This record gives sequence, C-alpha cells and structure tokens, in this order.
Amino acid sequence: MGLLVQKYGGTSVGSPERIAAVAQRVSRAVANGDKIVVVVSAMSGETNRLVDLTNQFGGQPNEMHRDLVLATGEQVTVGLLCIALEKIGITAKGMLGWQVPVLTDNAHSKARIQNISGAHIEAVFEDHQVCVIAGFQGVTGQGDVATLGRGGSDTSAVAIAAAINADECQIYTDVDGVYTTDPRVEPKARKLNSITFEEMLEMASLGSKVLQIRSVEFAGKYKVPLRVLSSFTDENNEGTLISLDNEVSSMEQPLVSGIAFNRDEAKVTIRGVPDTPGAAFSILGPVSEANIDVDMIIQNIALDNTTDFTFTVNRNDFERTIEILKDTSDKLGARGVDGTCDICKVSIVGVGMRSHAGVASTMFKSLSSEGINIQLISTSEIKVSVVINEKYLELAVRALHDAFQLDKAPEKTAEKA
Ligand code: ADP
Ligand code: ASP
Ligand code: MG
Repeated sequence: MGLLVQKYGGTSVGSPERIAAVAQRVSRAVANGDKIVVVVSAMSGETNRLVDLTNQFGGQPNEMHRDLVLATGEQVTVGLLCIALEKIGITAKGMLGWQVPVLTDNAHSKARIQNISGAHIEAVFEDHQVCVIAGFQGVTGQGDVATLGRGGSDTSAVAIAAAINADECQIYTDVDGVYTTDPRVEPKARKLNSITFEEMLEMASLGSKVLQIRSVEFAGKYKVPLRVLSSFTDENNEGTLISLDNEVSSMEQPLVSGIAFNRDEAKVTIRGVPDTPGAAFSILGPVSEANIDVDMIIQNIALDNTTDFTFTVNRNDFERTIEILKDTSDKLGARGVDGTCDICKVSIVGVGMRSHAGVASTMFKSLSSEGINIQLISTSEIKVSVVINEKYLELAVRALHDAFQLDKAPEKTAEKA
C-alpha cells in the first residue's frame, strides 16, 4: 500500500477506449490499497491541433493567450477520465492546474513550476478515491494560466509527487521503459531495468523525448523515485527505474548506456570574423539578448587574423538567428553568414565513460566506416555529441548501437530479465 502518482501520456489516453483502459488500471491499484493521484496529458495529437489553431491568425500569437488555448487539451482528458472512473464505481475528483494550485513563473509556453501545495490534493482523499490532475499547466502569480513546454505533463507529475511526498512517480507511456535508444529508430534497442538519474538527465537534454528534462531535474532535486512503464502491456513489467544511486551504478555500468539524438537543431556560421578580443561576445551577445538558446559552439583557429565561428540553435530560431548574424557580420566587417537546418545531433551517453579513454574514438571510427562526415563535436564527462547531416541519423544511431553492443546486456550488471 502506498501513495503513487501515475502519469498517462497522450497515446495512453488517445481514445475513449484507451481512457477506459486507464480507468481499469487505476481501479486495480485502488483495489490494491494504493492511494492514486493521476496526472494526464491531452489526447494524442490534440496539443498539435491546438497549436495549429493558434497560428491561424497570422504572425506570432501572444504566448499568454496561446496558453489559454493549449491548456484546454488536458482539461478534456481530466473530465473524461473522471467519467470513466465513476462508470466503474471509483469516485474521482478532477482538478486543473489553478485549482491545485500549481504555481508557475510568468514564462508563458515554457513556465517553470515554483510551488505546489499538496494540501488540496490530500483533502480530495477524504471523500474521493482518486484525484485526477491536468498535466502541462499551472497558474502564474497574476492568476493567468501558463503551460510548461511540450512534454510538460511529465514535469507536472514529478513535481506533484514531490509536493505530496509520494512513494513513486510512475510515467505510463507507449513504450515499456527507457531503452538504449529510441526503439522506433533502432528495433534492436534494449530496455534498461534501471538507468542512473545522471544519465537520464543527459539523455533527456540530448533529445530523448521519453521524459521531459525538467521532470528528471525535479526527480533528482527532490529525490522522487521515478519509473517509466507502458500503459499498453501487462502489469508485471517493472519498466525502468531512474536510479538515484549513481555511485553503485557507475562502477557497474557499461561504458555507454544509451544513444540520444535531436533533429530540432540548426547550424549557423559567421565567416571571416576579425580575430580580436571580444569577438565571441559581439556575436553571441545579440543572440542571447533575443532570448535564443545556443547549444554547441566552435571557433576555428585563426588564419590571416580571421576566424570562422559556428554554433547551433533550435530550428525554430534559425531565421531569427541568421538575421541577427547578418547585422553582426556587417558591424564586425566579417565575410558573411551561412547556415543549414539539414543537421542532427547524435550523442552517446554513459557514466562509465568517465574512467575510460577511447570511447570517442570508437564512436568516430564507427561513423567513418559508414562514410558519415562529422561536422561538429562536443564532449563532457559522460557524453560525446556529434553533429552530422540529418539524412544519416538512422544509419548513425544503428551503427553506434552495434559498435557499443548495446543490444547485449552488460555482463557485470547482469540485468534481471
Ligand atoms: P507520452 O505521450 O506518453 O508522453 P512520448 O512520445 O512523449 O510519450 O515519449 C515516448 C516516446 O519516446 C516513445 O514512443 C519513443 O519513441 C520515444 N523515445 C525516445 N528515446 C527513447 C528511449 N531511449 N527509450 C524509450 N523511448 C524513447
Ligand atoms: N500535451 C502536452 C504536449 O503534447 C504535454 C504532454 O503531453 O506532456 O506537449
Ligand atoms: Mg511525453
């Protein structure tokens, strides 16, 4: 018997039948004696539809108004799940973000949760069996509805679990756990029984969409036991536990635990920049003032006292970045600006890399034997990322999966079947 938060993503609540199946799963947990708080996403495709609707008026809509529209997707699912639960004899109370309340900052469309009061949720259990809460949304200090960024229901669930001190936060989705890489790209990907919190943080930040990165950050900060499971398969499957026990795992872990990729980036270059102190600031200052996040940065060694400066940004910011750089190029007397959206970033992640050299060279060798040209490289203690042409993404992921033998369970960890 425990206090559990169960989050169901878009495909898990994608139709009335799926919502009825979720109600059944929740009712079995209730019968088990567990107290269940359910956090739901909008039905699959719904948030995209709402985004399209807000784009029907030309130009960039006001983010606060847009949030009012986007938050409605989750409201529908909350109501439908409560109806489905009541139909099978489970009393439920549905709540939107503002009712909990989930307090956020004012950064509409990517708001951060600042505080959640658990008292209202706990009070629900005095006269209801289940509390159903809308994910992806909260309310600002001014009382406006705000959304948490795409995939944000994961973060709602973990933050709620932290607020009520839940025994576990269970993320139910359409795969039965975290795999060595996206199983849609590499069918030989292997499910991990556990992954360290640190690795999951890297995987999420490098593009693995199975968990929103902020949910992993929250889980680490508030020590929330977090598990990814399938809502489609039987209940004996334990999914993947995001383990907070980094030390034990790092000794036993293989060199590389997983491969992440990101198709959302674009690459821009400003050429022939005079090689003087302050050049990097002159280039990146205006970009950051425009609120554009920069990811990888490469500055070439200067030749003839000029240098080429390359960096990556989100594809949505590509055009704006090029415009800003053209202006900077004129001011600095650089040779010009170019860029492309035809790229992707592929990364290998593993805490075991820390103590072993040679992982990066295995990666480069494997990519070169497939004839894949590496455009940019960046490394940290537990990851190596490369930017390559987008058309090679699948090939690269599969080649690296083979090169690091990720389809085989590592001997030392001897994962339970
Ligand atoms: P939900 O709608 O339930 O939030 P998401 O689509 O956000 O589901 O996340 C689940 C998807 O994440 C899977 O269908 C899978 O394609 C993708 N994914 C990417 N990387 C991984 C990985 N390493 N392990 C498992 N799934 C992954
Ligand atoms: N419905 C939102 C989205 O599609 C939030 C979520 O699913 O986590 O991004
Ligand atoms: Mg998701």
